[in-house]
Amino acid sequence: MTFITLGVAMYHIRFISTDLAVNIADSLNIILSSCLMISLAHVYEVNREKNEERLLELAGTDKLTGLANRMRLIETFRLYAESAKRNNSALAVVLFDIDFFKNINDKHGHPVGDASLQYVAKFIKDRIRKTDLFARFGGEEFALLVAGANQEHCFNHVNSIRQQLSNLPFVYGELTIPITFSSGISMFGIDGENFDELLSNADQRLYIAKDRGRNCVVAANYQTISEAAQVPLTSS
Ligand code: GH3
Ligand code: MG
Ligand code: MG
Repeated sequence: MTFITLGVAMYHIRFISTDLAVNIADSLNIILSSCLMISLAHVYEVNREKNEERLLELAGTDKLTGLANRMRLIETFRLYAESAKRNNSALAVVLFDIDFFKNINDKHGHPVGDASLQYVAKFIKDRIRKTDLFARFGGEEFALLVAGANQEHCFNHVNSIRQQLSNLPFVYGELTIPITFSSGISMFGIDGENFDELLSNADQRLYIAKDRGRNCVVAANYQTISEAAQVPLTSS
């Protein structure tokens, strides 16, 4: 507004006319042109901000599943870890790996493999809290950050999702495809202080889960053995 008033004043000092009607018309002209320029600049700025947000969103999103990708997982871990430290609260890293996934591709083809990945992604996403960060870690592997739940809680939750998935095969047209996953869990502050340490521990437990027959979950003090109920490791 200051600039518009200044513009009108300068114009009149420079090109003052004896005709009042001309002066009014010129002033209106300057005011309207300025308003138009300001509106266009505003629209441009709003669109630029929206596009920037969209690009950032896309950069952190896995194309096939629509989940967060590894980059966003690592960024979010930093935020969650700071908060867990500050509040002395729990934070778990969970790794999921689909069992015998290569068989699905080999038997039914890559597009069915892709659809199976989308099915599992949605299946798990629908069963976690909004505050948990679920990401596609790569290939047929997924990762989950669970904030504010202790190991037992987290184990029971992941194990329950595992049981539900193994009881609900993926139906794709005429096909009925049983899908299971194995999972490893590590806890912030217990199994490691940074993402790499937690990942490495969760991955080792995932391997133990594969070794014990797949379709099971392993944490430091808990495990499932295939379809068996949870067994505290400390008592075995
Ligand atoms: P395991 O129980 O030991 O995990 O066996 P697996 O067959 O699941 O493991 P493996 O690592 O041998 O196979 C993973 C397969 O996942 C191989 C790869 O072709 C497939 N894969 C990875 N990414 C994609 C994808 O985006 N789409 C499809 N359709 N397949 C994928
Ligand atoms: Mg794998
Ligand atoms: Mg696998």
